[in-house]
Amino acid sequence: MLKKYRGKRDFIKTPEPSGKEKVSKRKSHALTFVVQEHAATRLHFDFRLEANGVLLSWAVPKGPSLNTKDKRLAIMTEDHPLDYAGFEGIIPSGYGAGEVIVWDHGTYAPTDSKYSAIEDHSQAEQLIKKGLKAGKFSFHLNGKKLKGIWTLVRLKQKEKDWLLIKHQDKYASDNGHPWEDDSVLTGQTLEDLGAEGKKWATSKNKKTTKENFQK
Ligand code: MN
Repeated sequence: MLKKYRGKRDFIKTPEPSGKEKVSKRKSHALTFVVQEHAATRLHFDFRLEANGVLLSWAVPKGPSLNTKDKRLAIMTEDHPLDYAGFEGIIPSGYGAGEVIVWDHGTYAPTDSKYSAIEDHSQAEQLIKKGLKAGKFSFHLNGKKLKGIWTLVRLKQKEKDWLLIKHQDKYASDNGHPWEDDSVLTGQTLEDLGAEGKKWATSKNKKTTKENFQK
């Protein structure tokens, strides 16, 4: 499932994780979600949900909104490895070049038809599988910024375009995007990281050159 992910990247050049070949299936832990803010050619938020050993991924150009009337376009992209959830850094020139911060993270659980969270691991993964096929599923997010029930709906069968919509609950608000644009891991913003960018690129190049000599 990570073939597309690896095909797009050169792991000698990029600090992004290459991901493990085989993920040992942990059946008892809560499923993870992460939202990364990514200053690529166009700034966007990458919304990722753990399912079946990978992170299902959507690029959300405008980012999530707490306003239930906002339907945020979410373009499905290639599956990412689970360890991508902790990735923060600068992707050098090439695919996805730009700064990435972990804007939010936490656990999530898909819901049944009555919007109750399904915590059981294998039942949850089954629900997501069904939801991907049907083009609609809802889930509870338990992050630092994003909380409550959210829904993903596909615009057309077999297409990559989905909508990310806040469900009406106590976390919904007319103030669509009240959050700070900082990392929940380090507190740094994309701008902070950008200033570090040149420093990082230089040290990475040195390291790569040294590694090449050793081969
Ligand atoms: Mn991205």
